[in-house]
Amino acid sequence: IDWLAQTDPLVAAMVQREVQRQQQHLELIASENFTSPAVMAAQGTVLTNKYAEGLPGKRYYGGCEFVDEVEQLAIDRAKELFAAAHANVQPHSGAQANFAVFLALLNPGDTIMGMDLSHGGHLTHGSPVNVSGKWFNVVHYGVHPETERLDMDQVRDLARQHRPKLIICGYSAYPRVIPFAEFRQIADEVGAYLMADIAHIAGLVATGHHPNPVPLCDVVTTTTHKTLRGPRGGLILTRDEELGKKFDKAVFPGTQGGPLEHVIAAKAVAFGEALKPEFKAYSGQVIRNAQALAAGLQARQLRLVSGGTDNHLMLIDLRSVNLTGKEADRLMGEINITTNKNTIPFDPASPFVTSGLRLGTPALTTRGFTETEFTEIAEIISDRLHAPADETIKNRCRERVAALCTKFPLYPHLQLPQPV
Ligand code: PLP
Repeated sequence: IDWLAQTDPLVAAMVQREVQRQQQHLELIASENFTSPAVMAAQGTVLTNKYAEGLPGKRYYGGCEFVDEVEQLAIDRAKELFAAAHANVQPHSGAQANFAVFLALLNPGDTIMGMDLSHGGHLTHGSPVNVSGKWFNVVHYGVHPETERLDMDQVRDLARQHRPKLIICGYSAYPRVIPFAEFRQIADEVGAYLMADIAHIAGLVATGHHPNPVPLCDVVTTTTHKTLRGPRGGLILTRDEELGKKFDKAVFPGTQGGPLEHVIAAKAVAFGEALKPEFKAYSGQVIRNAQALAAGLQARQLRLVSGGTDNHLMLIDLRSVNLTGKEADRLMGEINITTNKNTIPFDPASPFVTSGLRLGTPALTTRGFTETEFTEIAEIISDRLHAPADETIKNRCRERVAALCTKFPLYPHLQLPQPV
């Protein structure tokens, strides 16, 4: 029985339109992915009915014996995946995970260091509009103006000068490997806690395609829905059992109420998938695809920030084609390619306009795309960006996108029966 269509056809129709949008567009947003049907199925279960404040075995509600099993499984798999001594799988999102860490380690007025939003940092790393920027004294570091890579001399100088209580590494739009060991040295020198937010690269870390910060950092936070390909959610990991207890308290009762056990079940499923050899192969393909896309764009005179990528994402500097991020985002939308405008380091344009376009390969790699398709995508994108006013090219680009979508079906089991 299609309960949703029967009970609420209005919502069902909206969901169906979103299914079609996902099927008929090329998803290049670096922070998105397509979960497995099993991950989605876990979220649509009776576990959504259960209150389970507390932790497995230590709950404030009766009837938790089975959700305890589910949550413990998610914890054990997360620990195995990231070689962590302790994991909390309850944060509702990446931002919630970060907020809980701040509550556990900091007091209002303390100094924290994180990367500037406009250089690739995240809002929760001290942006003035976020609680992290309102409650803490924030010192921002950035990338080097020439290399556009992390400027570790600047990080060290700022840390010595401001002696932060917490240094945050890990980013939303940084295409290069993060030198966790250098961050550890600097944190030790100034007596700071070190936190890595691996929201973007978690799937690469879990499969050995990016160094693992867990052995080097006091705490590691992540989302579960980007390269890790799980349900939307957050996760806190640590090598230190004692700190782990603090993070547990900071999540509940510190910043959240009842955990979302249906989402935690989906996290368990996703972590189980990520432990399999197929996921390691997938993550390797994500990176090879990013290399192919980057090479294709650069071969067509599109400049990439820092000259390329080591991970799943890249940033086009649109000044190389005299466009803004806002314009390019629209041009892509018109040919059914979904991207996002993004500031580039030292961006002369405002954050609403920007000079960059961020592209990532995780979602389409899940769809089965390989280097061949990503080389074609590079062609399509550059054709459109180099000739924004050309209707013939625009129509040709749309046709090529449609052909790729047909060749690599997404969620065929969700396809509506075709009208006769
Ligand atoms: N941290 C980083 C580095 C991110 O890129 C993001 C999301 O974009 C987050 C945290 C926040 O995650 P969420 O949107 O789940 O709150």
